[in-house]
Amino acid sequence: MRIAKAESVLVSVPFETGGGLPPWGWGGAPADTFDMLMVRLETEDGLVGWGEAFSRMADTALKQLIDTRVLPLVVGRDARQIARIKHDVEFNLHNFGRVGSIMYGISAVDIALWDLAGKRAGRPLAELVGGASAAEVEVYASLVRYGTEEAVARAVRRSIDRGYRWIKLHEVAVPVIAAACEAAGDDAVVMLDTNCPWSVEEALAVDAALDGLGLHWFEEPVWPPENYGGLAAVRATGRHRIAAGENAGSLFDFVAMHRAGAIDIAQPDVAKTGGVTELLKIARFCEANGLTYSPHCALFGPGQIATIHLTAAEVRPPLFERLYLDFEAELFGEAAMVRGGRLRVPDGPGLGVDPDPAVIDRYRVA
Ligand SMILES: [Mg+2]
Repeated sequence: MRIAKAESVLVSVPFETGGGLPPWGWGGAPADTFDMLMVRLETEDGLVGWGEAFSRMADTALKQLIDTRVLPLVVGRDARQIARIKHDVEFNLHNFGRVGSIMYGISAVDIALWDLAGKRAGRPLAELVGGASAAEVEVYASLVRYGTEEAVARAVRRSIDRGYRWIKLHEVAVPVIAAACEAAGDDAVVMLDTNCPWSVEEALAVDAALDGLGLHWFEEPVWPPENYGGLAAVRATGRHRIAAGENAGSLFDFVAMHRAGAIDIAQPDVAKTGGVTELLKIARFCEANGLTYSPHCALFGPGQIATIHLTAAEVRPPLFERLYLDFEAELFGEAAMVRGGRLRVPDGPGLGVDPDPAVIDRYRVA
């Protein structure tokens, strides 16, 4: 059960937004391709497990960091010791940051170890962590930023026509947000994610301007993401439930957020926040502290599949986030295609589905 081989695979697949703005640049020119930075672990008896690290912009530097700093610490370890391996790698590398690249790599390793555990047991991940409460999860269409009233209204109607009943916007202009809510009408519930643009004062002004639109939550209104006091001020005075957590590094960040009174909805990301092991802890912390657990998922590799299992395994399954993009090729084929606003929980062992080697070959960057 020793890990004989650990490697990473970076693919970047072109997508279509249906008229949205290029969603991110992050140090380079915005690109319409999406990274799936995968970790592949192979045990000495030939079993293969897959994980995923958060990545954007064909990030070969991140891949190299994971290859040279994280994966060498995993080779030779007993794959059954998931928590032990995760702890040891975190402890060894904690000086290089508790949030960000190193933790993304550790998250990928943890997901791959759980995939191996499921494959070894012959049971799907959802069963290993409590059992699926549902055969399908309810997906929300997480729209990219469209920037104009016409374009966002079109995207909202298109997602409703495709069967979505929950929609998240990434808009920051009040008239555009209002137009999206009007387009949704009674056909879908709308959430708003602003990705940390404002001071507390600015966020409170927007919060007031959005009053009456019926937004289900208000996500990351304040800069910087770790400004828990700022989030708490918006939450205390504002009119909306506050969601945050995709930029957290571990359970301890959620404890700090909760103690500050910063959030109603906790959004850990399985490929950023320590993998399956850490999300299970965060879920139980939320349960015991009256927070809504709703994982962040802007992932299309094994991290997406792991999040489906984690979602289904909750007694009250949270909504499942999927960025509203259409890919040139699907890494998991039909298994990750949304039908009628829902995704099926794979029922094979481990994650239940492996990435398609033909898609890897065609879109591999490094
Ligand atoms: Mg977000």
